[in-house]
Amino acid sequence: MQHYPVFLNTRAARIVLSGGGEAALAKLRLLLKTEADLSVFAPEAAPDIIAWAEAGALTLYRRRLQAEDVAGAALVYAADEDKDQDLQTATLARSARVLLNIVDSLEGSDFITPAIVDRDPVTIAIGTEGAAPVLARQIKADLEARLPASLGALARIGKAFRRAAEALPMGRARRAFWSDYYSETGPASIAKGEAATKAALDSLLAQHLAKGPAEGHVIFAGAGPGDPELLTLKARHALHEADVVIYDRLVSPAILELARREALMLNAGKEGFGAAMTQADINALIVEHAAAGAQVLRLKGGDPAVFARLDEEIEALEARDIAFSIIPGITAASAAAAALSQSLTKRGRNTEARLVTGHDMQGYADQDWKSLARTGEVAAIYMGKRAARFLQGRLLMHGATANTPVSLVENASLPNQRIIATTLGQLPSALAEAALTGPALTLLGLAPRDAAPPTLKQEVAQ
Ligand code: SAH
Repeated sequence: MQHYPVFLNTRAARIVLSGGGEAALAKLRLLLKTEADLSVFAPEAAPDIIAWAEAGALTLYRRRLQAEDVAGAALVYAADEDKDQDLQTATLARSARVLLNIVDSLEGSDFITPAIVDRDPVTIAIGTEGAAPVLARQIKADLEARLPASLGALARIGKAFRRAAEALPMGRARRAFWSDYYSETGPASIAKGEAATKAALDSLLAQHLAKGPAEGHVIFAGAGPGDPELLTLKARHALHEADVVIYDRLVSPAILELARREALMLNAGKEGFGAAMTQADINALIVEHAAAGAQVLRLKGGDPAVFARLDEEIEALEARDIAFSIIPGITAASAAAAALSQSLTKRGRNTEARLVTGHDMQGYADQDWKSLARTGEVAAIYMGKRAARFLQGRLLMHGATANTPVSLVENASLPNQRIIATTLGQLPSALAEAALTGPALTLLGLAPRDAAPPTLKQEVAQ
């Protein structure tokens, strides 16, 4: 982000523009919507500019810009469409240390004017840092079509009501009120006029005040394997609503970005920064926030019900009578199988596929190993990197063949996804060679669909 977007307060600010032609007109049309004190310097000015000056909307000086004109200005526009004159304006602005825009010169400018969707006081600024003006215009057209013209009035009436709404406790209760206003009550009443909308606000507030204090609630949601597009719509919605988000190490930053900016974001998986939180700590953290009335989102990688200690967290809530709900997510096994273009189950090959944890394999009984060792079996092994040698030994001992395909999928669904296709016989050496650093799923019994005979093969997807 080379250009940082801000909204400049133009009240009592002086904005200076040099130029009197088409470029000046284009800038002035926008600047006239602000509250700035506008000074235009042009020996020759277009009729519109003269008319604006006569109407008192700006001050027109029929001469070239000089050093003293620039002093104390908030912004300077070089809009003469003449290289030499623009350069002179630029020099004056620079020596007075005033932010400068040279029309149509990205490189020479300190700031640029974005494409704007104007529903005053709702203003949307769109910028592409000069990379794609056509795209900016498309986005603008999209938004113009999508946002009703009444949006501005809605926001203005809302603004005037902010004081009154302070009767509601800060946080969730007040947010729920405004959310009702902007999504339902407001749009429904604005067509009937301002008075009707104000009356609707009054009765909406009375309704909300009559509600008791908010009860805490916990949503356990799966964030999927990492790609934000693999987040469910429900999880996305929950992220948007949550007061507190307690997330695991595997939840990608791109997904956390979707939370409200005011939400309290708590990392429950700080591995690598000293000791990770214990499960008891995490349970206590969830309970603490929910008991205080917060809408808590417990966000876990993949699916919250797959190797994610969901039951322990639920039991902690049940012990305190705290309500909860569960939003499933796409588990790593699904994403890894998709990366191989394979099914987890297939007619005639395997009628069951197992989800196995590499953590607890020591406790596997003989019959488990025997069935897992059968030709055609498919198992998705989570947290299996460390158990690879043990797994190989047991499976071979129980009759698996050394050329059983095994695929490792690291960072499934992410841009840095890697697939390592190997065999049971070569699993430990393939793992050592691949030096995986991200989360990886081991798929026993599956090779990538396009794989040649199952020999050691590495590939980088995408
Ligand atoms: N609840 C999660 C699993 C948590 S256990 C789920 O449903 O996916 C953590 C293990 O999941 C990791 O050790 C790894 O084996 C696997 N895993 C999670 N995300 C992954 C990803 N993007 N790619 C590959 N494996 C992943």
